[in-house]
Amino acid sequence: MIMSEKKLNGTVIVTYRCNARCSMCNRYKAPSKPEEEITIETIKKLPKMYFTNITGGEPFIRKDLKDIVRELYKKSDRIVISTNGFFTDRIVNLCKEFPQVGVRISIEGLERVNNEIRGLQDGYNRGYTTLKKLREMGMKDVGFGMTVQDKNAIDLVPLYKISNELGMEFATASLHNSFYFVEAKNIIFDRPMVAKNFEDLINELLRSNSPKKWMRAYFNHGLINYIYGQKRLLPCDMSFDTFFIDPYGDVMPCNGTKDKEVMGNLNCQSWDELWNSPEAEQIRAKVRCCNRDCWMIGSVSPAMHKYIWKPAFWALTHKLKALVSQHPYSMYENKIVRDYRDGKITKEELDKCSTCDMCATANSGLSVASMEQLKEMSGEEIVDADIAAQMEEKV
Ligand code: SF4
Ligand code: SF4
Repeated sequence: MIMSEKKLNGTVIVTYRCNARCSMCNRYKAPSKPEEEITIETIKKLPKMYFTNITGGEPFIRKDLKDIVRELYKKSDRIVISTNGFFTDRIVNLCKEFPQVGVRISIEGLERVNNEIRGLQDGYNRGYTTLKKLREMGMKDVGFGMTVQDKNAIDLVPLYKISNELGMEFATASLHNSFYFVEAKNIIFDRPMVAKNFEDLINELLRSNSPKKWMRAYFNHGLINYIYGQKRLLPCDMSFDTFFIDPYGDVMPCNGTKDKEVMGNLNCQSWDELWNSPEAEQIRAKVRCCNRDCWMIGSVSPAMHKYIWKPAFWALTHKLKALVSQHPYSMYENKIVRDYRDGKITKEELDKCSTCDMCATANSGLSVASMEQLKEMSGEEIVDADIAAQMEEKV
């Protein structure tokens, strides 16, 4: 199986260092060691991609992010960077060189809720200021990213409206558990309340004149299905045409697995060798039987392109309804939402359908050396000292 001619969809996790303290992700407690993080030499070995997401941790902690982006543009048609938006100067500086790059800043709600969830000092204002600066610079592909949960669901539509006023993209997610988030206990408590807020957003999106937003409505419809622990609306083809690479050069199918799954290591293998290896085939066999049913944009966006007829049919039928009704979508279109309302299934039964495991210890996927440094200091102390040193260098 030679797939080197086919363009893939890739996510490059450039670092596991993070300066935020999000309540739904413990990655900040488990940073990678800078000297072990993916190098330009390894990035040069990546295949051709039609889309690349650069993420972390917080990618802008890396001082050489510009070099990484420059290298990735040699092989990728489109790049989007996911960031918590804290390092405004670095973000603006990078965007000056790459005005075509996409930037998604995570904002978890209006000011109070965002700062509570994200644990970044003045995080909301910093994120918002960064977004506005990028817009003023004429950057086209900028937007918000929000991980919807009990605490911030109420802010979903207000935040969407703010992003709309600024003419920005608005990407949503919900709580997931995996080694990547170093978390196993994330769960939605009040599913109907969260679903109702998604329903309101879906209706807003369907009322718009943008086909892209109608497809976003479908994605959010899938999020309601996900928080009720149901089977994915579309197949998951991670590791077939989509991959993740972590800071250690390990190529993985996705970021949703409980423990880290590895197809091979790009530091010591060529791409073709790794992609066509028996280990990669074993991972593909596992993906075929995976029952975690994640609904994250990284695995859903390629599926929405591949199985376009399904979301397109949903979007068109609902858009037609939107022409005659102010309320074209109801969360009760989902059988499971009706069943829960009608008492046919209990909260405990729904909880069991989720990936939340209150007894599990989350695996971080860190290397031995990265784990070793945590014996002396906490992840937060390591990253705080790292950033303080970087700021001093600047002065
Ligand atoms: S969600 Fe992102 S910003 Fe928050 S702690 Fe995890 S890696 Fe950091
Ligand atoms: S459902 Fe897909 S994205 Fe989620 S863990 Fe399984 S293979 Fe990964």
